Amino acid sequence: MRAVQRSGRAVVTGGAGFLGSHLCEALLDDGWQVVALDNFLTGAPGNVAHLAQRPGFELVHCDVTENMHVRGDVDLVLHFASPASPVDYLELPIETLRVGSVGTERALRLARDKGARFVQASTSEVYGDPQVHPQPETYWGHVNPIGPRGVYDEAKRYAEALVTAYRGAHGVDTGIVRIFNTYGPRMRPYDGRAIPTFIRQGLAGEPLTVAGDGSQTRSVCYVDDLVTGILALARSGHPGPVNIGNPHERTVLEIAEAVVAATGGRSRIEFVERPVDDPEVRRPDTTLARTELGWEPRVSWEEGLQRTVDWFAAALARSA
Ligand code: NAD
Repeated sequence: MRAVQRSGRAVVTGGAGFLGSHLCEALLDDGWQVVALDNFLTGAPGNVAHLAQRPGFELVHCDVTENMHVRGDVDLVLHFASPASPVDYLELPIETLRVGSVGTERALRLARDKGARFVQASTSEVYGDPQVHPQPETYWGHVNPIGPRGVYDEAKRYAEALVTAYRGAHGVDTGIVRIFNTYGPRMRPYDGRAIPTFIRQGLAGEPLTVAGDGSQTRSVCYVDDLVTGILALARSGHPGPVNIGNPHERTVLEIAEAVVAATGGRSRIEFVERPVDDPEVRRPDTTLARTELGWEPRVSWEEGLQRTVDWFAAALARSA
């Protein structure tokens, strides 16, 4: 395993998205130069507007399935471009498959041509509706390829195979991170994921819409913890896949109740129909991240939720 240098020039695809924007910021804080590539399909320039004046930051409007020409040296490629919320990838099925396939290959070629370390944003969705719990990296998953979520899950599974092939065939220094549900500032209020939906509903005093009876579980990680884990993987030279996520499991109903309390306690809970193929349980086994990367989440649920609610309250007030 070759450990990558601590700073240099990084390319972040999907750099104007939720996770990409936090990664760009953390890399700049660490002394990296950063080129963010984004076609603003599900992200927006506003997510990185606060970075525009920082030396070493560049935002380039580019569809990574069409072209990915970056001039100059590149030491690290973080491939994060892809619709990620179920609402987005159900609306954008072909774009999701293309960015996971063609986009991943273009990003891998860039890393190969520049001699850069490459990190692929994979997902806990590669485990599908898991039959092993919690999920270690050795679990192969339980995915329905022709179900509605297949476009996302299979794009990411194909991307993992492609990354592995480029490592073997071209010697690219690759890493794969399997990201579990993450929340925090800069999520979109209407992106359809549970936490931003609940917070938006709670701040408006509307009922929180919980899918099914809310007994399905999720393990949610605050974005700052996730970014620390991803950058630890990037620096380590570890090939992965490595799960990064918070192993503390909660039911969706518990998450909703906490959001009601954090947003002023005015909302009630309303139970709605459960989406097709919605996973029953989700919890990362983070042994590998702990032992290989020395990584553990540090931000408590209460603190992360409060920071996120405060950010949403300010953002919604600005847009009103
Ligand atoms: P996001 O939608 O906020 O960000 C994705 C970004 O990619 C957006 O800015 C979008 O405009 C951009 N993009 C999409 N297609 C593109 C293309 N063809 N060319 C250039 N840019 C393109 O989503 P996110 O939550 O920030 O997720 C980022 C990555 O992390 C995704 O690859 C996602 O699969 C992965 N991930 C996220 C989570 C999570 O909880 N947020 C969990 C698992 C995996």
